[in-house]
Amino acid sequence: MSKKYDTIILGGGIIGCSTAFYLSKKGQRVLVLEKGSLGQEASSAAAGMLGVQTELEEESPIYELARKSREMFPNLAEELKDMTGIDIGLSQKGTMRLAFSEEQRADYREIAVNQKLKGEESFWKDKEEIVGMEPCLTDSLFGGIWFPKEGHVSAPDLTQAFARAAAVNGVTFRESADVYQLIFHQNQVVGAATDTGDFYGSAVLVAAGAWSRRFLLGEEQALYPVKGEALSVKTEKAMLHTTIFTDDCYLVPKKGGEIIVGATSTPHTFDKRVTMEGIGGLIHKAKRLLPLLGRAEIDRIWAGTRPMTGDGLPIMGAHPDLSNLYFSTGHYRNGILLSPITGKVMADYIAEEATLITDLSAFKPERFQYQTEVSPL
Ligand SMILES: Cc1cc2nc3c(=O)[nH]c(=O)nc-3n(C[C@H](O)[C@H](O)[C@H](O)COP(=O)(O)OP(=O)(O)OC[C@H]3O[C@@H](n4cnc5c(N)ncnc54)[C@H](O)[C@@H]3O)c2cc1C
Repeated sequence: MSKKYDTIILGGGIIGCSTAFYLSKKGQRVLVLEKGSLGQEASSAAAGMLGVQTELEEESPIYELARKSREMFPNLAEELKDMTGIDIGLSQKGTMRLAFSEEQRADYREIAVNQKLKGEESFWKDKEEIVGMEPCLTDSLFGGIWFPKEGHVSAPDLTQAFARAAAVNGVTFRESADVYQLIFHQNQVVGAATDTGDFYGSAVLVAAGAWSRRFLLGEEQALYPVKGEALSVKTEKAMLHTTIFTDDCYLVPKKGGEIIVGATSTPHTFDKRVTMEGIGGLIHKAKRLLPLLGRAEIDRIWAGTRPMTGDGLPIMGAHPDLSNLYFSTGHYRNGILLSPITGKVMADYIAEEATLITDLSAFKPERFQYQTEVSPL
């Protein structure tokens, strides 16, 4: 029998790599199995926004988790830089959510007031103030909310940094290791079978993003893919300081004049072809926000596959009938933002320690129906 690990993680995206990192800090022997190369799917397609107040509703069980996660980034950036030399590109220059109608103006003003009452930094800005802060923006707007604490990172760099830091702590990574089946013994999961060999562990964590449903996540509506197309442009001079967020398009200013424009949303497909309609629509919307973008050079276009769940919340916890099989998936549009807290909480959970957030009940796997037999892959 081959070497036995404490935890085997299926999937080398940001969720698998961050959990490997936090498990390694506990001294666990961890193996990550990735079917291609680390970070090759959603985690390298993401714009890297850390959008708690911009994107999430305060009533959602995910809001508090996301807020805690955002707070982890400054220390994490330093820790990962020290361990790996990788700069995760943390920028904390805020996000503006723009209003384009009277209705949105009224709604956003209310959101700003309510968030402020709850102690969040959130400010309504009239059109003149917004254009004063970001002079290249269109002036065809009704104002917007300014969230100074929001920011962004480089999603591919953060994924690689988690992986390298985990490797420094002794985690083993096997790329080109496509897991085709879980291995069972006496009604327990004892390992994972890949085309390059079988691996055994005391616990198995499924962190295979949109592909996680293959591993006992039976019900179709439990987890499904949502395609997102995006592009990046190069500008000679920086046109934006802050992230710009609207209902149908966002602009994320990165280092060196790069701006990421995102993203489309097409559910129920693993197709990653980039389309004229998708990219053309984004270009049109982006130019309306920032007219000078028409002169920018297109740098890259791409598509990725977000893991979405039936109720929009991630699935985090143990299988209802198989206590050493865990899931951490379904982070949809916020997996980069949620990666530090998810890694920390799941590592605590697997190691059976008290979690930072003790109540994970809103994310428990049993809210969906499960199979207890392996489906053919
Ligand atoms: C266009 C776009 C923009 C986005 N922007 C943001 C953003 O600004 N902020 C934010 O927080 N989030 C954003 N997201 C969402 C974020 O990218 C995801 O939530 C996150 O990357 C999910 O991470 P993951 O590790 O669960 O999945 P993935 O990154 O998809 O990783 C899963 C891994 O599992 C591997 N795998 C699958 N099956 C197997 C198998 N059988 N055996 C072995 N390995 C397997 C895959 O190859 C893959 O590497 C965006 C997503 C997209 C597509």
